[in-house]
Amino acid sequence: MLTELPTSTDVLIVGAGATGLALAATLAARGVSFVVIDALAEPRRFAGGIALTPQTLELLEPLGVTERLTGIGNRAGAARFFSGDRNREVVALRFDKLSTRFPYLLFIPQQYTEKALTDRLGELAAGTRSGVESTVYRPYKLLSLAQDDTGVTATVLGPDGERTVRAKYAAGTDGVHSTVRELTHVGFPGELFRQSYLQNDVFLTGGPPRDEVHMFCSRLGAVTFAHIPWDPAGVVRIALSLDRPPAAFSTLKPHQLQALIDERAPDGYQVKITEVLETTHHPASHRVAERYRIGRIFLAGDAAHSHSPIGGQAINLGMQDGAALGTALGTVLNTGEDVLDSYENERRPAGREVVDLTRQMNQIATEPNRWKGALRDALFPVARIPALNQRVTRVMAGLDR
Ligand SMILES: Cc1cc2nc3c(=O)[nH]c(=O)nc-3n(C[C@H](O)[C@H](O)[C@H](O)COP(=O)(O)OP(=O)(O)OC[C@H]3O[C@@H](n4cnc5c(N)ncnc54)[C@H](O)[C@@H]3O)c2cc1C
Repeated sequence: MLTELPTSTDVLIVGAGATGLALAATLAARGVSFVVIDALAEPRRFAGGIALTPQTLELLEPLGVTERLTGIGNRAGAARFFSGDRNREVVALRFDKLSTRFPYLLFIPQQYTEKALTDRLGELAAGTRSGVESTVYRPYKLLSLAQDDTGVTATVLGPDGERTVRAKYAAGTDGVHSTVRELTHVGFPGELFRQSYLQNDVFLTGGPPRDEVHMFCSRLGAVTFAHIPWDPAGVVRIALSLDRPPAAFSTLKPHQLQALIDERAPDGYQVKITEVLETTHHPASHRVAERYRIGRIFLAGDAAHSHSPIGGQAINLGMQDGAALGTALGTVLNTGEDVLDSYENERRPAGREVVDLTRQMNQIATEPNRWKGALRDALFPVARIPALNQRVTRVMAGLDR
């Protein structure tokens, strides 16, 4: 049965990805009414953001989401870094030595994270006052957005034609090509990284054990391996950076991927690709929106920042934005205390920090100059010093942000 799109609400959420759903769950937990729309008719079958950090798992715990995720995901207690140029392991980060309730990176396809948030949203909505509901209205595409002193008016295109929704506030959680960002004329400055990424879901023999992530740095590009619980079982995600993608990357053969890995891998690293299930290609750009707040309209997640998959931070940053925005909107709507500026004041620097960190990681991991690469490999082992190792691991875990 098609539920009719409401004409008014407290918060209109444009985009039902991980960010929009984290925002919705946070509002539902505070009894605030909202409407979530998404341009897609169905949720995506999408591995996308696959690594959840300890910080994100801590954040989602009070919402009742973390237990569902840890029940499905694959726990990696260590990340090992190898130099393909120098043929050796240079350092390991030990997440299993961190003092947190979740001392690991949790590998879980984005689709499962979104489902866990949606399921929890349903439970929260059922337990709160009327107006808080769990439906994601699909397919409804945002066309226009205007604001005045008391609220925002959105025009959306859905199965029943054009409709308007009036809300006190609106959130653009509509991804990297955000319509909300465009309609509010917010700049998205930054630059394209010189390399792009191939994301490959494969079967292989050798490679990392299930409880480790392996990464190669090399002057040709970086490679990361991680086991993900996916259908079919036994899939490993390989993210690989390169100057130019092969012509027919969507039908990459195992031997073609193997060749790309071998030229970046340390000699003697044992891995054999036996089947490539899927390959996608993505440019990597490093950008932060000029503003996260435009009056009654807010940007969050990929709509507000963009960076490459190296370091696996994007989905984490998005859900953290969603939770922070939900907390600020919940406070103003429930108590009248205007804390809305705190959202941009806290989350934009956090976004800037992660985008800068990712840019540096990309440059260091793929350094094309052999002397600078040699310097990197010589310096990396310094991070074995326990205090420094702990510090770097905490940054990657998001625990010092
Ligand atoms: C192939 C791929 C691999 C990735 N790998 C990683 C990784 O390894 N690690 C990592 O952390 N991140 C990765 N990411 C990024 C990660 O998926 C994003 O950071 C995450 O999806 C951000 O979520 P979001 O909710 O902000 O945006 P999105 O997931 O993009 O969701 C936006 C939603 O808005 C909807 N929408 C868009 N426009 C409109 C409109 N006009 N009206 C209504 N709805 C609209 C879309 O349909 C979509 O459902 C990857 C992304 C891709 C595409």
